[in-house]
Amino acid sequence: MDALVKPKSSADTAIVIKRVGIIGAGQMGCGIAHVIAASGYHVVLNDLEKVRVDKGVAAIERNMARQVAKGQLKNNDMVAALERIGYAATFKDLGDCDLVIEAATEDESLKRKIFSELCQHLKPGALVASNTSSISITRLAATSDRPEMFIGMHFMNPVPLMQLVEVIRGIATDDVTFTAAKAFVSSLGKTIAVSEDFPAFIVNRILLPMINEAVYTLYEGVGTVEAIDRSLKLGANHPMGPLELADFIGLDTCLSVMQVLYEGLADSKYRPCPLLVKYVEAGWLGRKTQRGFYDYRGEKPVPTR
Ligand code: NAD
Repeated sequence: MDALVKPKSSADTAIVIKRVGIIGAGQMGCGIAHVIAASGYHVVLNDLEKVRVDKGVAAIERNMARQVAKGQLKNNDMVAALERIGYAATFKDLGDCDLVIEAATEDESLKRKIFSELCQHLKPGALVASNTSSISITRLAATSDRPEMFIGMHFMNPVPLMQLVEVIRGIATDDVTFTAAKAFVSSLGKTIAVSEDFPAFIVNRILLPMINEAVYTLYEGVGTVEAIDRSLKLGANHPMGPLELADFIGLDTCLSVMQVLYEGLADSKYRPCPLLVKYVEAGWLGRKTQRGFYDYRGEKPVPTR
């Protein structure tokens, strides 16, 4: 699969995306790799240790096998997609990528370090995207050597199932990059919502304060974990309760997004709930560590409060 974007001016060359690098093989990096490989692109995954990429690729295999069992993907297509997924031990191994999507931990200093180290290894025409849930694209772009070719591409979790991708331009992102990013996202069969570069963009600006409020509701003893989740599921028709959803997103990511909202908008209504902070300090980050507002170590999730 190629996403070919014609240049807007003769000074620009066409952007052809064939090979995509992904930094961070956690739940998002692997979900993005899954969808991109299934759409015909070559993908290389990078993480701090090879074992994390191996674990991620095993998860992609399981998720694709589930799609085959449900008749959503042909077995041959699964085999071909898995063959298109490779491993990048270092940023140097991302040097032949046409696009690199950063999906590492939601921590601005960590992401800044990644971009400043990454760009020296990329070819001049390569696009750079961040899957950040909340951090300023303009600020992240400024740590790269190519702010005009830098863009926010915010996939939703779980990537294979969720239809939306938010596309966010930084102040310097040029039209050719914006058009190429939109063409690429559309080629994955996803639907785009364009957001301005404000803290947490659109989805998380609305969703995360609701989750934070659910944690305050628990903290103040208004309801138990089960009562809060049941209330929003049956009383507001949400498919998942807010605390169950927080565990699914990752409590570290939820806290980081609230901190970005609190600091970026300087409004006390975004103050992260101390109970959320406590869970993160305990290393109870939700499903990925098997404990959060629920304990997932047994057969059925059990509320931890
Ligand atoms: P995660 O904890 O599952 O995975 C993060 C991965 O990044 C880990 O495997 C970690 O080892 C790796 N990593 C950390 N530092 C690295 C480095 N220097 N180089 C390479 N890899 C590194 O987190 P996640 O939920 O996949 O989130 C990743 C990004 O996606 C974050 O920016 C998050 O805000 C965003 N996001 C998350 C969700 C969600 O629901 N969890 C949804 C949309 C976007």
